[in-house]
Amino acid sequence: MLYVTGHRTDYDSWEAAGNTGWGYEHLSSYFDKIENKLNLNNYNFNTHPFYNLFEQAYKEAGVLPIDKLSNEAIIGTKINKLLIRNGKRLNTAKIFINESINLRIMKNAVVRKVIIDAESKITVGVEVQVASGKIMQINVRKEVILSAGSIGTPQILMLSGIGPTKHLEEKKIIPIIDLPVGQNLQDHIFFPIYLTIKETLSIPQEAFTFFVMQYILTRTGPLSTIGVTDFMSFINTRDKSIPNIQFHHMYIPKNDKLVLKIYMNKTGYKDKVIEAVAKINKDFELIGLYPTLLHPKSKGEVLLADNNPTSKPVIKSNYFRDLDDLKQLIEGVRFVFYVTEYKYL
Ligand SMILES: Cc1cc2nc3c(=O)[nH]c(=O)nc-3n(C[C@H](O)[C@H](O)[C@H](O)COP(=O)(O)OP(=O)(O)OC[C@H]3O[C@@H](n4cnc5c(N)ncnc54)[C@H](O)[C@@H]3O)c2cc1C
Repeated sequence: MLYVTGHRTDYDSWEAAGNTGWGYEHLSSYFDKIENKLNLNNYNFNTHPFYNLFEQAYKEAGVLPIDKLSNEAIIGTKINKLLIRNGKRLNTAKIFINESINLRIMKNAVVRKVIIDAESKITVGVEVQVASGKIMQINVRKEVILSAGSIGTPQILMLSGIGPTKHLEEKKIIPIIDLPVGQNLQDHIFFPIYLTIKETLSIPQEAFTFFVMQYILTRTGPLSTIGVTDFMSFINTRDKSIPNIQFHHMYIPKNDKLVLKIYMNKTGYKDKVIEAVAKINKDFELIGLYPTLLHPKSKGEVLLADNNPTSKPVIKSNYFRDLDDLKQLIEGVRFVFYVTEYKYL
């Protein structure tokens, strides 16, 4: 639910790589359109007793607050804008789709491939499998926009014959265009760190009932938003201009039964670490600071397991293959210790 655009140099580097029209100058007019539509220029920022604490800690470490109205990922701290309206999560459908749009959505339908005329190399349609198992071809007059996410998109492209020829031939797919599809998988890997805090933020039990009622009746109050997770910071551990580490923040109440264990499990922590943190959490509230690598150099791969569109693709993440990624993330971890004055370093 966090609305944040990249640093302008991110987009300019796309353009410099040969993607005309994807530079910041051009894209910013689209950001303006989105932000107008979302009414983000009149955003009501959240308040939370922890913001001051965080802001002060970062200030002491030399990272200053930035203009809250800016949506860009620039060095500094800020309370971020959220895509929440009337206490509920917004999504693209709620905002951009209305009855006047000429759109047909097919639920429970899997795209098997894009159909490309092998000779002219022109896209003529898509092959779709619907819930009943029936396979159908949908023809197009203009174009196919493929937007199946960072794993699904390369999978469909390769199933369609666009990808590394050798790999496609191995999987018995007739190659149409030889391109390094699936060879550029990158991820903003992050390292969640949990720390005990002296301050208390716990909502007393009596007040909690009030906040539940407040949310049900008015869709406002602490349950209508995401706590301190909208506090965000960007630093550079090496030079001062472009951030290389982003920090997410999280608050975990004492003896939490809802979030901590599930979240740690899903972020890949081993059971014994999760149990150790949960044990501390029995008596202490925790904050989570998550240094996140913004410009990973390691590249992973998305490969086809076989030529069956319903098979899961093979994902090779190759995290930290380039050791500088590990070094930068450790610099982010050290910054957490620095900003929180962690005593055992
Ligand atoms: C835990 C988490 C938190 C995040 N928080 C934020 C945040 O606060 N703010 C933010 O800006 N970004 C956030 N992101 C990133 C954001 O969610 C993604 O960048 C964004 O969803 C990418 O959009 P997309 O349309 O490219 O792909 P996706 O959202 O991945 O959509 C692709 C869709 O294609 C479908 N699909 C795939 N293959 C096929 C097929 N063969 N046939 C039919 N359909 C198919 C998938 O089911 C999926 O619905 C977060 C991501 C994660 C994982």
